[in-house]
Amino acid sequence: MSVLLIEKGYLLPGNSSGVEIPFGFILIEDDLITVVSEGDPSEQVRNTANEIIDAAGQIVMPGLINAHVHLQQSLVRGLADDRAVWDWVQNVAFPVYGEMNPDEVYLATLIGMVENIRSGTTTTTDNQTVRSKAGNFEAAFRAAKDSGIRYKLARGFNERGVPDQFIETADEIFEDMAGLYEAWHDAENGRLRLDFNPHTLYLVTEETMLRVNEKALEWGIGMHLHTAESEDELNKFVQETGMRHVEWLADRELLGPHFQLAHSVWLNGDEIEKIAESGAVPIHNPVCNMFCGSGVSPVPQMLSMNIPVAMGTDGQACNNGQEMMDTLKWAINVHKLNSRDAMILSPEQVIQMASRNGAFAFGLPEDIGSLEPGKKADLIIVDLDDPRMTVPTLNLPSLLVNFARAEDVVTTIVDGKILMRDKKILFLDEDELVNEFKQARTGLLKRAGIH
Ligand SMILES: [Zn+2]
Repeated sequence: MSVLLIEKGYLLPGNSSGVEIPFGFILIEDDLITVVSEGDPSEQVRNTANEIIDAAGQIVMPGLINAHVHLQQSLVRGLADDRAVWDWVQNVAFPVYGEMNPDEVYLATLIGMVENIRSGTTTTTDNQTVRSKAGNFEAAFRAAKDSGIRYKLARGFNERGVPDQFIETADEIFEDMAGLYEAWHDAENGRLRLDFNPHTLYLVTEETMLRVNEKALEWGIGMHLHTAESEDELNKFVQETGMRHVEWLADRELLGPHFQLAHSVWLNGDEIEKIAESGAVPIHNPVCNMFCGSGVSPVPQMLSMNIPVAMGTDGQACNNGQEMMDTLKWAINVHKLNSRDAMILSPEQVIQMASRNGAFAFGLPEDIGSLEPGKKADLIIVDLDDPRMTVPTLNLPSLLVNFARAEDVVTTIVDGKILMRDKKILFLDEDELVNEFKQARTGLLKRAGIH
C-alpha cells in the first residue's frame, strides 16, 4: 500500500461545514483520504508514510473540477479569436475535426490535460462534439489513462445541421457508445467515465434524445448538452419548436441529476424552477461566455435556490485558457459587475462551484469534490510565497479567489498519485510533448487547408 502524508499545511477541506484547519495534515492511503486533522501527525503516523510533503505556508484544498472542456481544441486554439461562434465552428473547427486522426487527438488531449493539471484541475469533462475518424474517442481515453487525470468523455453526436461526414444515425451512435462503455466506463480504478453528449438540441432529433436519455439512465451515466448558450440559437429554436431549450427538455421529462446543462445563460424564471425541481446541473463557463459575447448566466439566482451550479472553462479556442484557478476570479467579478452588487456571490460559493458542485456534474458527488476521510485523494497544493499573496489576514477562500493565479498551484494529486510536484509534471517530458504536438498540429492544419 502506498501512504502519502501532507503535513503543516493550511487545510481548506471544502466540505459542507465550511470549516478550515489553519495548521494540519492529510493522510492518503492508496487512492483514498483516510485522515484530515489539525495539528502535527504522531511519529507513528509519520513512520507509516512512504512519502511526506511539507506544505508549510501553503494551502491544501480539493482539486478543481473543470466540468466543461473540449480538449481537442488545442489544435485550433487562437483561430477563433474575435469571431462569432458558429462562424469559427463551421470554417475552422469542422475542417480540422474532419481531418484529425487518433495520434493528433491523443496529443491534443494530453497537452490540454497538462494545462489543466498545471492550473489545479484534477477532473475534466471533455466534449468531443463530433465523430470524425475511427479511433479518435479511444485516443482521448488513452491520453486520460496515461496522464492520470480524472476524466469523463462526453461523446458527442450530430444527426443534422453539420457537414455530412459528422452525421450519424441513432443506431451508429448506440453501437459506438456500447463499445466505449464496455471498454472505458469506470476503468482505471473508476477514474474514467463516459457521458452521452448530444451536441446541442437543434443538431439532434427528438426521437434520439428520448432514446439516449433512457439508455443513459439504464447505464447509470450522464447526459451532457450545450444548453441556452447564445440568444441567437435560443431564438432559432423557439421559432422551430415554440419552446425554449430547458422548457423543451422539461416538457419531455428528460431532466434529472444525471443531466448537465453546459452554459445555461438564456434561462427564464420558469426554467430555473424546473432545473431546481429536477436536480439537473447547470455548468457556468464565465470566461467563454465573455469571450464569445454570449451573455451572463443567472448563477446567483440558481445558487440561492440550491441548484448545484458547476464551473468550466470551455475549450481552448473559445476561452484561450484552461486555468480554473483564474476562472474563480472571473466568475465572482462578472456577477458583481452584472448585478452592481459587491456581495452578490461569496468566495466560498465560487470555490464550491469549482469543487463540490463539480462532483455532481461529474456523477460522483459522494467520492470527489472535498477533502474528507473516505473520499478519493484528488487535491492540490497552492503556494502563498508570491508577493501578491502577502496580506494581513489569512482569509483562505478570498485569497484563492481574489489573489491566487494558476501558476501558484505547485502540486496536483489525483486518485492518490502525484501528477505534478513543485510545478514539475511527473508523467511525461513536457518539452517533448510540446514539440511533438506542434509538429502534429502543423501537418493537420495544412491538410485541413487552414492558414
Ligand atoms: Zn462547449
